Amino acid sequence: MATLKFNGNASTFYTDLKARVDAYFLEHKIDPVGNAKLYVKSAFYVTSFIATYIMLVFFTPSAPFAILLSIMLGLFSAGIGFNVMHDGGHGSYSSSKTMNRIAALTLNLLGGSSFMWNIKHNMLHHTWTNIEGHDDDIAAEPFLRLAPSQKKRFYHRFQHIYFFLIYGMTYVLWIYILDIGKYFRKTIASKENIHLDLKTHIGFWLTKIIYLGIFAVIPIIRLGWVDFFIGYGIFVVTTGIVISIIFQLAHTVEDTSFVDPIATPVLENDWAVHQILTTSNFGSRSKLLSFLTGGLNQQVEHHLFPKISHVHYPELSPIVKATCADHGLVYLEQPTFFAAVVSHIKYLYRMGRE
Ligand SMILES: [Zn+2]
Repeated sequence: MATLKFNGNASTFYTDLKARVDAYFLEHKIDPVGNAKLYVKSAFYVTSFIATYIMLVFFTPSAPFAILLSIMLGLFSAGIGFNVMHDGGHGSYSSSKTMNRIAALTLNLLGGSSFMWNIKHNMLHHTWTNIEGHDDDIAAEPFLRLAPSQKKRFYHRFQHIYFFLIYGMTYVLWIYILDIGKYFRKTIASKENIHLDLKTHIGFWLTKIIYLGIFAVIPIIRLGWVDFFIGYGIFVVTTGIVISIIFQLAHTVEDTSFVDPIATPVLENDWAVHQILTTSNFGSRSKLLSFLTGGLNQQVEHHLFPKISHVHYPELSPIVKATCADHGLVYLEQPTFFAAVVSHIKYLYRMGRE
């Protein structure tokens, strides 16, 4: 893998933006980490998830209600990932290191390794956004072609139709296949020879064993194989579709840029401008979207300030927008969630044919 470099460290855009954002927090005397609103929201998602699990496994209702609860379980698990785990992983959940660690570890409760996530998401995706071979979020080959530099196969011309099936598989594959592949290869995209100490080895396997116990062994004993497979299938497919769609809408839509690192080993821009070119918001004004997606509808702000909790993004958005305008940069956004989904489908269509 070729060594990749940004062109310079900080453009005037980022120094200017940082000064304005710092001034905002200073003026309003606010901490950039999570607040009471976030902690109430976290309690809601975690309690709802646990209650739904208990209802399904120990007080299993009639089939239609059980199907509905399985969908809800999928939505609540995505909600924990977006609102609690994601901020925790970035260290923006709280000013307490321990609280951030606990929030980040909710991923392990949901079967994923927070150690692998930290490398995949915080280190690679947030640095080399939309760069082939470095950003693991656009690596869905051979099933999907998500970047212009990726090889086009004949069936990609239908990817705008079948992408839902792939997205539906992502969560269960993540837990049982992708994480484990990364563990044994000691590689995530361009990050090779990943070192795991004894604590990480134990944590990794403990996560998988506990998940298997809670989300397979106990339900199978209680419900039998058939009901387990139906319920678990609905749960993981719902989570997979929701997390894939929400993360993809920020980067793989019509207006976002992509970089082929072979053709451009020294990037044309610095890191911050690169984030502006590769990231897009959707439905920024919707409080409901912000509540449901943990601010992932405002990924422009998130990518520029990953260490600031998502609860502040609505207030940062006008500052970022104005700074972009002052520096001649286009602030990418889709007006609504629906518009972003349409744009993502059009992008998949284009990648499948061009
Ligand atoms: Zn992030």
